[in-house]
Amino acid sequence: MIIEKIKAANLRGCGGAGFPTALKWEMVRDAPGEKKYVICNVSEGEPAVTKDGYLLAKHPEIVIDGVKLALSAIKGSLGIIYLRKDYYKKHKTRLKSLAAGSPIELFEETCGYLGGEETTLLEVIEGNRAEPRFKPPYPPQSGLRGCPTLINNLETFFWVAKIASGEYIGNRFYTICGDVKNPGVFELNKDYPIVKILRETGNLPAFEFFVQAGGGASGQILLESELNQPLCGAGSIAVFDKKKTNLCGLMKKWSRFFINENCGKCVPCREGVYRLDEMLKDGAFDAESAKAIIAVLKETSFCPFGRGVANSFESLINKLWNQNK
Ligand code: SF4
Repeated sequence: MIIEKIKAANLRGCGGAGFPTALKWEMVRDAPGEKKYVICNVSEGEPAVTKDGYLLAKHPEIVIDGVKLALSAIKGSLGIIYLRKDYYKKHKTRLKSLAAGSPIELFEETCGYLGGEETTLLEVIEGNRAEPRFKPPYPPQSGLRGCPTLINNLETFFWVAKIASGEYIGNRFYTICGDVKNPGVFELNKDYPIVKILRETGNLPAFEFFVQAGGGASGQILLESELNQPLCGAGSIAVFDKKKTNLCGLMKKWSRFFINENCGKCVPCREGVYRLDEMLKDGAFDAESAKAIIAVLKETSFCPFGRGVANSFESLINKLWNQNK
């Protein structure tokens, strides 16, 4: 039974939240409902994260196998590969051919970063505005068209197929970018500390640096002294040369991204991101005012997007801003 094997392998979702995969599959399998769905999330909209695109290009057949295993395990009626626009265009022919004869369809997502949030994804597939839903209920109980729905990131399905074939050895994929010699996507043990990942891939800098871990906009800033821990989130490490990096420029890049990608549904995020962006204009950034905005974002944002904004800004301000002045 594949769910028991996933449980024994202690596989967690590779999309960011790290929820135990077997538990999620059991929840969908056991939920009452005549129709059940499986969705493979390949939205991958966060800057600095490209591992799903890499897997899609290199091993699409293994991903399809993982989705088929999920359909069988939860007795699902339809599987959907939910792809961001450029991935859809690039891989649709190959994926359609691999999925031929199975109840697996492709869906082209065109709404950007927020489209990867699990409840927004459901709204988008149903043809509605790209906005998150209130939770609970969670998708395993009530997801697509009100039916129990299993949503996992593409890499998770890849590892499920490897577990089924007896080839899983506790690895995961990491995207490494920034001020490094050897950027790219690497497969290494999922429990390696960040410093070891950088060393093993030939990317440990000889200069003073910091990293943004787990996502290129919402990821947390970590100092060199904090790299003896495994990597959380979507598996990305962006390295920054401490002397050469303009912190205002970096935050401005984040604020521009968040302004373009937030859905505007809730005031703390919509207004908070706008205010942060305004403060970063013309070097008028005030860390204390920013912290007040961030505190509200963290406590009151409707969906994880707003909390992700707080994550990157707060860690940069607390760890680097005062040193930089
Ligand atoms: S936190 Fe941002 S993205 Fe999420 S609902 Fe509010 S405005 Fe939309």
